[in-house]
Amino acid sequence: MFDLTDKVAVITGAGRGIGRALALEFARAGARVAVVSRSEGTSAETAALINGERPDTAVAYAVDVADSEAVAAAGKQLIADFGAVDILVNNAGITRDGLLLRMSDDDWDSVLATNLKGAFLMTKALQRSILKRPEGRIINISSVIGLIGNPGQANYAASKAGLIGLTKSMAREFAGRKVTVNAIAPGFIQTDMTDALPDNVREEILKKVPLGAFGTVDDVTAAARFLASPAARYITGQVLTVDGGMVM
Ligand code: NDP
Repeated sequence: MFDLTDKVAVITGAGRGIGRALALEFARAGARVAVVSRSEGTSAETAALINGERPDTAVAYAVDVADSEAVAAAGKQLIADFGAVDILVNNAGITRDGLLLRMSDDDWDSVLATNLKGAFLMTKALQRSILKRPEGRIINISSVIGLIGNPGQANYAASKAGLIGLTKSMAREFAGRKVTVNAIAPGFIQTDMTDALPDNVREEILKKVPLGAFGTVDDVTAAARFLASPAARYITGQVLTVDGGMVM
């Protein structure tokens, strides 16, 4: 089900957390995978995990997605290494939380640069290749925070809401070539990012989840694998929340 055999998938932020799980899942679905993360160590670890299961399936790239020149160079390298790209998952993301009153320009700029501009740059670098593919797919990992906001996360919420606008515009631009563009908005998923939250904040969040539990990375990868597969060919410009019912 939801087979990705012979596809090439580029996953950003694949050094840890949701991105690493996406890279492993897409490889298990049959895709060859470009594992992109900021640091060389984490992307190499993910690629080694994948190649341990399926030899010669993954290649690691250390790229800062917010760096325009680095992304353009990586895009060329990726296409040279894999021949073509079918699927791009813009997953790299960071938080720099704080109340607006105390938020520095740097906190704002760095979050917008990675979470929003990074998706724009990666798409620009790979779009020519993706648009030529018969079943091209772009998936942007947004967040429920982009839909409902959150005190202390104005920068993050703006970046994730921006990703939704970007998704819908790209979906309209690329529809003529049958390339679909969708966003996934996870709720609270257990990863390094959410492990950093204090217990009382976690308990408060849990009260707002109708299904009564935090999500796992597998909940997100299942949705992404579906959207990346031929089965989702008639779905574009959508935001799929994976949040235990937090936002409905
Ligand atoms: P993690 O913090 O566990 O991992 C983030 C990954 O992104 C790392 O591999 C990191 O690289 C990479 N990354 C960060 N900045 C850059 C950059 N500038 N260039 C390239 N790679 C970068 O995050 P999660 O797995 O929790 O989150 C993944 C995505 O899902 C994010 O976009 C996040 O906003 C979103 N999300 C997460 C939720 C959650 O509950 N966890 C909920 C909703 C959305 P490195 O390994 O090198 O540090």
